[in-house]
Amino acid sequence: MLGAWGAWRTSHYVAAGALAAGMLAWAAHEAWPSRELPVALPIVVTSAYDDWTDTLGRREMLSDVLERAGITGREYVSFMKATHALNPRRLQPGLIFEIRRLKGAAVASRLGVRLDPERRLWMTRLAGDSGWKEIVEEIPWTTERLRTTAIIQSNLYDALDAAIPDSFLPLRQRVALAWAIADVYDWEVDFTRDLRPGDRVEVLIERLQSPEGERRFGRILAARVDVAGSPSLAFAYEKSFYDERGRSLRRAFLRAPLRYRHISSRFGGRYHPILRRWRSHQGTDYAAGYGTPVRATADGTVSMVGRNGGYGNVVEIRHANGIRTRYGHLSKFAKGLRVGQRIGQEQTIGYVGSTGLSTGPHLHYEFLVNGRPTNPRRKDFGAGEPVAAKLKAAFDSVRVQLLAELVPTNVPAASPALGAAAARDD
Ligand SMILES: [Zn+2]
Repeated sequence: MLGAWGAWRTSHYVAAGALAAGMLAWAAHEAWPSRELPVALPIVVTSAYDDWTDTLGRREMLSDVLERAGITGREYVSFMKATHALNPRRLQPGLIFEIRRLKGAAVASRLGVRLDPERRLWMTRLAGDSGWKEIVEEIPWTTERLRTTAIIQSNLYDALDAAIPDSFLPLRQRVALAWAIADVYDWEVDFTRDLRPGDRVEVLIERLQSPEGERRFGRILAARVDVAGSPSLAFAYEKSFYDERGRSLRRAFLRAPLRYRHISSRFGGRYHPILRRWRSHQGTDYAAGYGTPVRATADGTVSMVGRNGGYGNVVEIRHANGIRTRYGHLSKFAKGLRVGQRIGQEQTIGYVGSTGLSTGPHLHYEFLVNGRPTNPRRKDFGAGEPVAAKLKAAFDSVRVQLLAELVPTNVPAASPALGAAAARDD
């Protein structure tokens, strides 16, 4: 429930205030959010234009919106000829068009539409019946660095949800951030079962804001996750993530055979023994919906595909060092999967089901060392590739900077909540 926010530009920390009855403290750069926006007195003009917005309805086509703007027949043809950015087959219902028309005119003189998060399109009708002109404008998102601390109560989603106010990132972005954090730690942390109440997740992200006030996160720059009390650090460098010693977070084995983003938040918490276990059960069960893709946790060779008693539809993969992995109760196998086939880490091998001795859709996963089912531990997965020697010095200076922003030592105790959270570091 505790959350602390800081915002940095360069490495400067500016305290701005505390919110939410001391449960949540935040600090922000002076540029955001400004409580008192300058308000100019209204200037009255007799506009030569009518401006309005129109929305693409369900089962509507672009031509329907254009027709309402008077762009039909020859105008429609010349409009479509002029645009390359607007693909009428890829427009989503709900898309908003800004339309401007000269008072008294039949045909719109300008039409604006947001193509995607990065671009806005302006179509302008040229004078003298000489067609339309297309201009694609880049949306100038501004970037800030923000840090948050989320304390696990039940799961990562809920922890981020509690730590990050809507005014910083909307709900969908908070969920996407949980997915992105889980992806960074795919080889290191199984967020469905490794975390315990009280564990901390700290993350330094880029937060982007558009002139319209939309907010989303950009890159994850650094993170620290306490896994049963032991910290695991991640620093973004050259499109990969490395630990504090400069070793890649990528390992021989993924921590879990299902992607965290494919497990609903309802099941995202700690392990639920929701299923009656069959005799001699020696694996890990992941509750997930029918058809959820199951991925190989490491490179290997398929050693079995088929039906096998209590396992139902099962795939077994042989890996290096006498390790095998087994994936049971599948609803179906990946197309064309066969014994002897080489499989890469993260490759989809089948889909979650409830075949065999199973009372509901779930994946049964076994990690076998020399034929014995074993509880995989982090140390079994080996060390990641280190940063190239010639880049080590550059990496180290990035790491030092990121660490200072991720775990600042001089955070003002802005509220009891923040103080309590900080005290946990000791
Ligand atoms: Zn099982």
